[in-house]
Amino acid sequence: MSGGDRNVDSLENKTLFEEAALVMHCLLNAGFSAYMVGGCVRDPLIGRPVYDVDIATSARPEQVVALFQKVIPTGLQHGTVTVVMPQHTYEVTTFRKETAYEGHRRPEEVEFIDDLIEDLRRRDFTINAMAKDVHGHIHDPFGGQADLKQLVIRCVGIAEERFLEDALRMMRGVRFASLLGGVFAKSTWKALCANRKTLSFVAMERVRDELWKLTAGPNPARGWALLVRSGLLAHAKEPLGALASTEAALWQPLLCALGSVDTAEKRIALLLLGHEVDEAEAQRILQALRCSGAQQDAILAVLRADARLAAGGTAALAAAGTHGGAASAWRRPFAETLFAVGEQGLCDALACRRALLGVGAAGEHTAAMQPFLQHGEAWLEDISVRGLRDIALTGGDVLQATKRTAGPWLRQCLESVWLSVALGELVNQQEVLLDYVRKAWNEQ
Ligand code: ATP
Ligand code: MG
Repeated sequence: MSGGDRNVDSLENKTLFEEAALVMHCLLNAGFSAYMVGGCVRDPLIGRPVYDVDIATSARPEQVVALFQKVIPTGLQHGTVTVVMPQHTYEVTTFRKETAYEGHRRPEEVEFIDDLIEDLRRRDFTINAMAKDVHGHIHDPFGGQADLKQLVIRCVGIAEERFLEDALRMMRGVRFASLLGGVFAKSTWKALCANRKTLSFVAMERVRDELWKLTAGPNPARGWALLVRSGLLAHAKEPLGALASTEAALWQPLLCALGSVDTAEKRIALLLLGHEVDEAEAQRILQALRCSGAQQDAILAVLRADARLAAGGTAALAAAGTHGGAASAWRRPFAETLFAVGEQGLCDALACRRALLGVGAAGEHTAAMQPFLQHGEAWLEDISVRGLRDIALTGGDVLQATKRTAGPWLRQCLESVWLSVALGELVNQQEVLLDYVRKAWNEQ
């Protein structure tokens, strides 16, 4: 390896903070001031990892552009330039003041300034209004470190004004309270509750982003408890149905169950199940939140799997009344659900139901669901086929064996073969399956 290569190599191995220091030194050497700001100052103080570093500087955007080799003019009029370093990118934003907020959302005008403290003053919460210089010294004019220690969310300045300027801050506040497992300062909470109506000015995409981060975070129950108590979500631009309900007694057990499943999708699915929301209504809520196709699929698959299991389990339970009731009666609806919904949705549904059962919130189908929760994972391990591609038979094989022409029956035939293999009634060998198909499907 040549010396030049080693240089490139070591540059590429620089960590996020080392490269950030390079960016700051470059600004400092040119006579400007530069600080790390926001989450990258806050999160290390609470032992959380940092994934991106934002930098604030006295340099004007065009001066930042001129200083660095590779930049992206992300939001020049708002003062933000993305500096592209070998391994990471950095948003470098000129110190600014915001004035004339429009429609309880973004500022109409920004004014570039030279003063760090003024720049920190425009930030939402004290814990987000700290800056760290290149020597690691923290500038904390609003008591962010003290609030962080006490796990308190407090607006910078007069809370009422800050929420009126930008209604998104209410959702952000709940998200940070949730992140910290903390509480709101009294005046901040009062202002949030008094101004909750202005959430209707916030784009649903932004509400979803905050909701997702809060739900995926370390204390989702805290965030949701605050949402319920404040009634904030009832004022979203579009109705969020059960998710916006404020009936504390209904939420109580659900919030206890929330942390028992991971991922935002599973947790939202758990809340929807707990509120007995059906698939159509769930889809409406998720669309109101502008959830992506993947987010909707993941959540709706849980509801679909759960509904199928409940129906299958109820039928098995009814049959068990006359036949003595072996758990095996639940295996067929279980396998059918696996086929219809897929393994992920099925497993997620089991996890959500189990979590709800654990807090006594499993609803009317508890008895019908019990065998699935007890044996589901073991059954799943026993089932060697996950989809039609896993059976030792193709549509072509079936047509040849039956000498029939293709039609909707073909899929039904393959599905029945799949189910029989899944339930262990047929061995997954081509000759065995062909034999079954010839007998059962020749003349139908
Ligand atoms: P995370 O990246 O974990 O969401 P963060 O604090 O870095 O947390 P960002 O949205 O990246 O949040 O914003 C960076 C900083 O910009 C914040 O820490 C805060 O100081 C400021 N900020 C962001 N959004 C707002 C807002 N709506 N009102 C006031 N200040 C804000
Ligand atoms: Mg950030």
